[in-house]
Amino acid sequence: EKITIAIDGYSSTGKSTIAKQLAKALGYVYVDTGAMYRAVTLFAMRNGFIDKHHKDVDALVNSLDKIILNFQYNDQLGFSEMYLNGENVEKEIRTMEVSQFVSPVAEIEAVRIKLVALQQKMGKAKGIVMDGRDIGTVVFPDAEVKIFMSASPEKRAYRRYKELLHKGEEVDYDEVLKNVQQRDAIDSSREFSPLRKAEDAIEFDNSDMGLKEQFERMYNFALR
Ligand code: C5P
Repeated sequence: EKITIAIDGYSSTGKSTIAKQLAKALGYVYVDTGAMYRAVTLFAMRNGFIDKHHKDVDALVNSLDKIILNFQYNDQLGFSEMYLNGENVEKEIRTMEVSQFVSPVAEIEAVRIKLVALQQKMGKAKGIVMDGRDIGTVVFPDAEVKIFMSASPEKRAYRRYKELLHKGEEVDYDEVLKNVQQRDAIDSSREFSPLRKAEDAIEFDNSDMGLKEQFERMYNFALR
C-alpha cells in the first residue's frame, strides 16, 4: 500500500537529492516544497515587494491570488520543474539572490497558508515524497514515514557551494555558509510553523555519509 513520506530538515542537508531518489525507487511523486516558497519569493522580488532594504508584506499578501504555481514533470531530467504563472523558473529560483530572500518571505503567515493548502491537495493521492521544513509537523502530521535530516553547517554550506559552482554561479564559500546559517535561524525561530523535528520523526545526520549509504538507509527505513 502506498504511503506518505515526509522529509524535513535544515537547509542544504541534501533532502531533495534523497527524496528524489526515494520517489523514483518507489514509483512515487516527489514534491519539493522549498521550490514553492522560492517561486513566491521570485514573484515578490520581481514586483519590488522585497529587496535588501524593505519587505512589503501587505503588497505581497494582496497579490497572492495572482500567483499560480505548478510542477511539470520533465522526462529528460527525470523530475518535476517549478512553474510560476506558466513560466519555468526552475533555474532562477535556485540562485543565491532568491536564497537570501526566501526565509523572510516564508515567515509570512498568509504565504504559508496558501502553500500548505496546495501541498495538502497534492498529497491527497497517496504515494508521495514531500520535502521541506514543516511537512511532518504541519502539512502531513499523519505521514506514515517522517525523516528529519541534519548535518553540520559547514558540510551543508560546502555541498551547496559546490552545487552553485557547478551551475556556473559566482559564489563565495563564506557567503554560502552565512546564508545557510541565516536561513536556519529564521526558519527555526519564526512564529508560524517553525522548523522543528516532529516528535515521531527519526533524525538522520548525514554529515559523514555518502549518497549511496544515505539512500540505502532511507529506503530500508521507509519500507520497514
Ligand atoms: O528547501 P529549500 O532550501 O529550497 O527551501 C528554501 C526556504 O523555503 C527555506 O529556507 C525556508 O525558509 C522555506 N521553506 C519553508 N517551508 C517549507 C519549505 C521551505 O519555510 N516547507
